[in-house]
Amino acid sequence: MKSKKSFAVGVDLGATNIKTGIVEVNGSISDQISVESKSDKGPPVVIQQIIFSIQEVLGKYKLRDCKGIGIGTPGVVSSTDGTVQHPPNFANWSSVDVTKKIRQSFSVPIYVENDANCAALAESRFGAGIEFKDFLFVIWGTGIGGGIIINRKLYRGPNGGAGEIGHLSIDYDGAACNCGGIGCIESYIGQRYLSQRTKEIFTTLRSGERAIIEKLVDGNLDKIEPVIISKAAELGDPTAISILKEAGTLLGSALASILNVLDLEVVVIGGGISAAPGFVYEAILSSVRSRVLKPHRAGVKVIRASLGNNAGIIGAASLVL
Ligand SMILES: [Zn+2]
Repeated sequence: MKSKKSFAVGVDLGATNIKTGIVEVNGSISDQISVESKSDKGPPVVIQQIIFSIQEVLGKYKLRDCKGIGIGTPGVVSSTDGTVQHPPNFANWSSVDVTKKIRQSFSVPIYVENDANCAALAESRFGAGIEFKDFLFVIWGTGIGGGIIINRKLYRGPNGGAGEIGHLSIDYDGAACNCGGIGCIESYIGQRYLSQRTKEIFTTLRSGERAIIEKLVDGNLDKIEPVIISKAAELGDPTAISILKEAGTLLGSALASILNVLDLEVVVIGGGISAAPGFVYEAILSSVRSRVLKPHRAGVKVIRASLGNNAGIIGAASLVL
C-alpha cells in the first residue's frame, strides 16, 4: 500500500522566536506559527513551548501522515548523544537532551541539528544550492555562521561543530571577539559592528553628507542597522557604499581561505545581511577570486540564498524529508 505520509514538521528554535511549520515533500510550507521564545526561563520551559507549538501547528493534520519532526537550534548538536550544547542567548543551558521529552509526546522520528546546518540543508534541497553538489553556506547576520555541503550531504565534523566560519581570524593582531579569539571575521562584519562603524563615520560627516542616512532613521542614530545601510547604499550614500564594499571584501578574504582548504568553488549566502545590494556580492566575488588558488579561480561563484526567513523551518524539516 502506498504510504500516505506526506509532510514533516520543522521547528526553528531561536532565542527570540520559535517558528514551527508544516513542510510538504516539495519543500513548501503549508502552515506555520511563531511564538515568542522564553529563552530566559531555562530548558524545560523552552522544550514545553516546542511541544505546544508542534501540537498547535499539527491541528488539522493527522500525526500518522507526518514523516517526522526536525528541530533546528543554535549551539552545537553533539554527534555522540544528540544533546544541544551552549546555545548563545539561552539561560541556564549547558548540555540538554532536547528530543527526550518531545519523543514522549509524538510517536514519529525526531531529529535535531544546528540551525545554520539546517539552513544549509534547506538551500541544498530546495533553494539556491539545488544545482550544486558541493558548496559552502554562509549566514551573514547578527553573527557569521555556516554549513558545509559535500556531495549534497551536510559535513558535520566528528563533534557536530563544523561550519563555524565566523571565528576564522582575518587579523592575528586584531579585534577581540566574544569567543575569546582575536581578529575573528564576525567582529568585523557582524550586524553590531557594521551598525557601530556606520554611526561612527556618520558623526564625522558634514551636514550635507548626512542627508540620506539621517532621513532613513528620522534623525535617530540608534536605528542604524544593516537594512538601513543597504537602503542608504541603494540611494547612493557614499558612506554606506564604502562600508558594505569593505565588509564584502573582508568576507571574501575569509571565504577564499575556506574554499582553498575544502576544495570548494561555490558559496551561498543567507541571513539578514544577505539582502545587501548586488555590488556587495561583486566585492565578495572579486575578493575571493583575488585570493583563491588558481585551480579554483574560474569556477568561483558567490550567490544569494533564496529561501530567506523560511530556511530555518524548511531546513529543520529537511532532516526528515
Ligand atoms: Zn570569535
